[in-house]
Amino acid sequence: MNLLMTRLLLFLFFLPIIVIGQSFSEQLDKDYENYKESSIHNRRFKHKDILPLIKSLDVPFIVSKVGESLEGRAIYQVKIGTGATKVLLWSQMHGDEPTATMAIMDILNFFATNDELDSYKKTILDNLTLYFIPLLNPDGGEQFRRRTALNVDLNRDALRLQTPEGQLLKKIRSQTNADWGFNLHDQSRYNSVGNTNKTATISFLAPAYNYEKGINEIRKRAIQQIGLMNETLQAYMPNHVAKYNDDFEPRAFGDNIQKWGTSTILIESGGYKNDPEKQFIRKMNFIALLSAFEQIALKKYANNSLVGYEKLPFNGRYFHELLIRNVTIRKSGKPYILDIAFRRDELQFNKNKSFYYQSYISDLGDLSTYFGYDELDAAGYQIVPGKLYPKTIRSFKKFQKLNISEMHRQGYTDIKIKNLSNEQRKLALPIHLLSEYELFNPVFSLGSNPSFFLEKNGQKEYLVINGVIFKL
Ligand SMILES: [Zn+2]
Repeated sequence: MNLLMTRLLLFLFFLPIIVIGQSFSEQLDKDYENYKESSIHNRRFKHKDILPLIKSLDVPFIVSKVGESLEGRAIYQVKIGTGATKVLLWSQMHGDEPTATMAIMDILNFFATNDELDSYKKTILDNLTLYFIPLLNPDGGEQFRRRTALNVDLNRDALRLQTPEGQLLKKIRSQTNADWGFNLHDQSRYNSVGNTNKTATISFLAPAYNYEKGINEIRKRAIQQIGLMNETLQAYMPNHVAKYNDDFEPRAFGDNIQKWGTSTILIESGGYKNDPEKQFIRKMNFIALLSAFEQIALKKYANNSLVGYEKLPFNGRYFHELLIRNVTIRKSGKPYILDIAFRRDELQFNKNKSFYYQSYISDLGDLSTYFGYDELDAAGYQIVPGKLYPKTIRSFKKFQKLNISEMHRQGYTDIKIKNLSNEQRKLALPIHLLSEYELFNPVFSLGSNPSFFLEKNGQKEYLVINGVIFKL
């Protein structure tokens, strides 16, 4: 028998073991691309982008328009399954928190596909009835902003119920009398897992139903189930799971829905390195939610202890975008050693469909207990502030003919360009583009966005532009 044959036989022998040995979540991880809704690929999709996807769903889905936003955008419910246990999920009650909406589109595709995971689908749909309400706040989604068209935080309207979207959520909760609720949000990418150097990529919460943070049977089940979801996610992003602030908020939906008798789980999608559009985190939502459906269907949570949840570190706020450590800055001729941190905002344009980054100094001083998505130990390096190019350039085209390296050699970091477009601002170039009227601000203070070189032994080695570090 030759080597190839031996290998083939060994492969065939182990193949069934490999397949059988794979857990549901491992198969979801492996086959994710089969289900990923490819027409949605960044966070700023709109109501009109998901509407046709929802409307095209066929049997066994039951699709119904259940209400309208204040500005008249249709809100849909997608129902699937025939089980006795009812599970209600709503996403994007905050318009700029879209990660779970993307995951729901993937989950709907999962149930619409026939493949080798059908036995899992059958288990889920025989035992559960799933009610999805994707994009509960479509008006906010249109602006990619938190609040509804009434300028109200929908998640503080659970008692007063002035928003049509809030009234709708309350009504559907009552009508379904759901056993389980999944409240799906996004949180700041600067949240950390406790005070560790890991971002809080997913944070869970079983919201409290009173100030005492009591644990009745309803909340206990949510706590047990979060323990299982945490275990599932640890395999794909070790130590990137945290617990959200568990203070009781009497006006919030999660807290009240827990109180009204639905075991409620809050999922907050945070940040992950090299995932600006949160596509990895979307996949983590997909895996966590589908795994949860299977775990709930088979009541796997029932014997799980509360310890897994209790042990989860709370969210910290220890992350910055860029952290430069131990750099020397001169003031009045004297050297001082500082850490400098940047965070960034997303400035929107093109009807809130695009954005460019605007960075700012988020902290200065001893930041030894903080972390950055990007970090540089700049011990031995000195800050050399950048200079504004003396001429305003007439067009971007003219600018492209300039030699940037030569400008760097002369100490220039910023340049003014007439009719600078937002698309041009999106480019992460090693030179800071300013419009004709913008102020050049080289000052190092909280909130400012200075450009500068890092120099060692008279040699400029790095350049920081708009909170991004470049090696020269
Ligand atoms: Zn939120």
